[in-house]
Amino acid sequence: MTSTAASPKVYVHPGCTVRHRSWNTHTACRLPRNIWVMGEGPIALLAWCDVLTISLHPDRETAQGAREWIDKTGCGHACVRHHDIVDLREATS
Ligand SMILES: [Zn+2]
Ligand SMILES: [Zn+2]
Repeated sequence: MTSTAASPKVYVHPGCTVRHRSWNTHTACRLPRNIWVMGEGPIALLAWCDVLTISLHPDRETAQGAREWIDKTGCGHACVRHHDIVDLREATS
């Protein structure tokens, strides 16, 4: 495993002129309602319960696993099981 330095990729989204250097900052900007974004990756697990919290994952399997976990245990103190998985590479809104 070689560790790669800063990825040359930038992540842009409609209505924003910032060339985000990570999915994390991209997501925080794109979904300003969130109170926190953790992790890094193109697959976002959104927990809308009470306040929007987002965790990012490198692939769908990981995100799905995380979703099953919070579906079971709750994502926070006011969990109503309103959890979505979004592929940031496909989402356009
Ligand atoms: Zn932005
Ligand atoms: Zn929840």
